[in-house]
Amino acid sequence: MTYRAPLADMGFALKYGAALAPALEQGLFGDLTMDVVDAVLAEAGRFAGEVIAPLDRIGDRYGATFKDGVVTTAPGWKEAYRAWRKGGWNGLTAPTEWGGQGLPQVLNAACVEMWNAASMAFAVGPLVGMSAIDAFTVHGSEPLKRAYLEKLISGEWIATMQLTEPQAGSDVGALRTRAERAADGTYRITGQKIFITYGEHDLTDNIIHFVLARLPDAPPGTRGISLFLVPKFLLNADGSLAARNDLRAHSIEHKLGIHGSPTCTMIFGDQGGATGFLIGEENAGMACMFTMMNRARLAVGLQGVGIAERATQQALAYARERRQGRTAGMPATESAPIIAHPDVKRMLMSMRALTQAARTICYVTAMALDRAERGADQAARQAAHARASLLTPLAKAFSTDIGIEVASLGVQVHGGMGYIEETGAAQLFRDARIAAIYEGTNGIQAIDLVTRKLPLAGGAVVEAFLGELRRIVDAVNATNDPALGWSGVRLEEAVGSLARATSWLLAHVDNDADEALAGASPYLRLFGVAAGGCLLAQQALGALRPGADAHPRIALARFFAENFSVQAGALERTVVEGAQGVISADPALAQ
Ligand SMILES: Cc1cc2nc3c(=O)[nH]c(=O)nc-3n(C[C@H](O)[C@H](O)[C@H](O)COP(=O)(O)OP(=O)(O)OC[C@H]3O[C@@H](n4cnc5c(N)ncnc54)[C@H](O)[C@@H]3O)c2cc1C
Repeated sequence: MTYRAPLADMGFALKYGAALAPALEQGLFGDLTMDVVDAVLAEAGRFAGEVIAPLDRIGDRYGATFKDGVVTTAPGWKEAYRAWRKGGWNGLTAPTEWGGQGLPQVLNAACVEMWNAASMAFAVGPLVGMSAIDAFTVHGSEPLKRAYLEKLISGEWIATMQLTEPQAGSDVGALRTRAERAADGTYRITGQKIFITYGEHDLTDNIIHFVLARLPDAPPGTRGISLFLVPKFLLNADGSLAARNDLRAHSIEHKLGIHGSPTCTMIFGDQGGATGFLIGEENAGMACMFTMMNRARLAVGLQGVGIAERATQQALAYARERRQGRTAGMPATESAPIIAHPDVKRMLMSMRALTQAARTICYVTAMALDRAERGADQAARQAAHARASLLTPLAKAFSTDIGIEVASLGVQVHGGMGYIEETGAAQLFRDARIAAIYEGTNGIQAIDLVTRKLPLAGGAVVEAFLGELRRIVDAVNATNDPALGWSGVRLEEAVGSLARATSWLLAHVDNDADEALAGASPYLRLFGVAAGGCLLAQQALGALRPGADAHPRIALARFFAENFSVQAGALERTVVEGAQGVISADPALAQ
């Protein structure tokens, strides 16, 4: 199963979706040029395709193994990680003063997509670490950063994020891991964490755990959570590894997918307490988490895009080779490649269109993160931060939902062979499933979108975004290009549905919270099919330049508008009218 980085699709999403070209012209990224962006993407694509992708099946087959507290990754994993780290990929966006490259989040987003397309089980470890680095860079003390940050950015050490406990999943505030103040200013951490990605492994000689825990006098819930850096090995004054800290992996999970990624149960404090160092203030752990949350959720969304892309490439290749049946007028002695059948074409176009829509939503979100960091003034940075906050749950949940859908279609295109492990289509389907669950389930993302993000600035943040979608619709209508079919009409209807459902939710979110919550997931989907359609149309318009071949972009945009954006009307009704059916569901569920 090969992987070829889709540089053309990425380029369109970056240039016309995320508006990278004007950002470069404005000097948002200093003297960075499109040539350099293209060169970085080409090299990342080569590395992903040639070095990481061949390991994906091996990781799935061998998995990670656990023996006497030691986790061994699959054959080839260590060497690939070493090469990836040497390439400087871990610190692409990290500050240059700590050894990073200071490049844009939007460029890293495209790279994260490629690492995950090549092997999600491989990429998920560093991905968690990159998000932890963000929180640490902002909230860590200078001495702590001097000791740990450069090695985390270079990838010499990998970080973990440890929130989940048996009784504390979506409800992080229920966590019980304890942190006791020690006389030397450090803390003693005791407790158990579950489902910890790369909690133990053999890729690096130290692992730096970022652990949420509760002080004895902490207030209940999320207001009483603190964040600690808890290294596997403590450090000597010169930075070399000292004694092993009081923590261990107890076991690893047997899972549906991402077999190459060890998912660990972690025990802290068998011998009195692991030494932990406070990040930020006591009881302000959630504020630190919020720093990394936008980035981590976007990264998981990009896992959905990566898996969808890989599944699409594989299905297309299979559909061109596999011959079954005949098309109209074909002699009885011949058979057609299945790609010639309209139903298979529909599946393949759905895969391509959903993937490109989700990709663009993710890149647009990443660009908002960049503008939030680098915007010209405070007002621009705040507006961009609000935009990123609005779009993050959409990027995470829409992209991971379509990751599963597209991988499932990939199995379907393969027919019976899709269900057989040898083709690899089944692995993508299994791997895709987790991304809708971790880093906040997609249900929690939808609730976040409706209850926290729509009300931002009294609804002005979402209204500004709707305004941009309307301008794209106007531009589509203004082209009058028959090749776009019903696109303009369908997109106008979809944005209208999104606007009406948004107003309805804003009116109900405070007083009829259950009604608003009942419609949250269909609303997020509605947002995705409306925004995704507009963003694809924007790329089609971008392709309508003299000398450019606009046909593929127009075909994709038209297909999405007429087959997915058109669903917006039904989704609007699900949000507004379907909520009562959810609220009155108890008798049916009691049976
Ligand atoms: C492979 C894997 C890797 C992971 N890696 C990490 C990691 O590195 N670090 C870490 O800390 N955790 C990790 N996790 C844990 C993951 O983040 C949690 O599983 C996830 O947040 C969901 O929590 P839960 O499993 O307890 O499900 P629950 O919270 O029990 O949720 C079950 C269902 O109820 C819904 N639900 C729950 N509460 C609400 C609510 N208030 N309103 C509406 N619906 C609700 C959910 O959406 C879900 O559908 C990992 C999990 C897995 C499986």
